[in-house]
Amino acid sequence: LREKLQTADRMAAIGSLAAGVAHEINNPLSFTLSNVRFIRDELKSLLEEGRVQEQERLKEVLDASEEALTGADRVSEIVTDLRRFTRGDDGKKAPVNLHAVLDLCGSIARSQLRHRAQLVKVYGELPPVQGSESRLGQLFLNLIINAAQAIPEGGDAKVHEVRLTTWREGADQVVVEVRDTGVGIPPEHLRRLFDPFFTTKPAGVGTGLGLSICHGIVKGMGGRITVESEPGRGTAFRVFLPIGEPEAAPGP
Ligand code: ADP
Ligand code: MG
Repeated sequence: LREKLQTADRMAAIGSLAAGVAHEINNPLSFTLSNVRFIRDELKSLLEEGRVQEQERLKEVLDASEEALTGADRVSEIVTDLRRFTRGDDGKKAPVNLHAVLDLCGSIARSQLRHRAQLVKVYGELPPVQGSESRLGQLFLNLIINAAQAIPEGGDAKVHEVRLTTWREGADQVVVEVRDTGVGIPPEHLRRLFDPFFTTKPAGVGTGLGLSICHGIVKGMGGRITVESEPGRGTAFRVFLPIGEPEAAPGP
């Protein structure tokens, strides 16, 4: 069973990653393709009609190719970032910059947020934490995607937000808060929230594994995760993580 659950965990994490990535890659890519097609067709007709003197048209073609390049660059950026995530560190610990991880998760979740909610970042000063970058990525991506999915259908980015706030708490902890202005969680669900397979989402959207994975990752790092919610107003998840062992003091 343990092995099955671990596989399920991995599948769920890969699934949410893949969904985010597919969204994120599809837009710039189809944009790029249509621009490149436009360039090809324009150049072809300019050549066929012997109108290569038309500076205006040529300038439009150049502008379009510029946009095509921007789209393609974006795709390659995402793929590079993803490799860092998925090729993975096998859970190995190293000093991790949480803000870099949050930025990456935010950018992967962007297409799920777009139009519905603004992504707001309020970053404090944080030291690096000792942990696995890819696990931390799964953790925060799950929380951010849940937040995005909590924004009501037809939500307006002028009204709704997902806010990422970080701060240092005392000498030995950092806190990351993921707060949304979504539908909230009824009190009777709070107790079961972190149970594997607890979901209120239709099959195909939710597996109910996200928060149990989050819980496992946070526990594994010696931290804790809390939730506060007001139905109809929104939800805040807080992740408390210990700052890793400081470097051994240099000898005299
Ligand atoms: P899934 O997202 O696949 O349903 P999760 O374990 O990530 O599974 O979440 C379990 C349930 O907790 C969700 O179905 C939803 O009911 C609730 N939930 C989680 N995060 C939020 C949130 N930010 N706002 C409202 N409900 C949430
Ligand atoms: Mg989820």
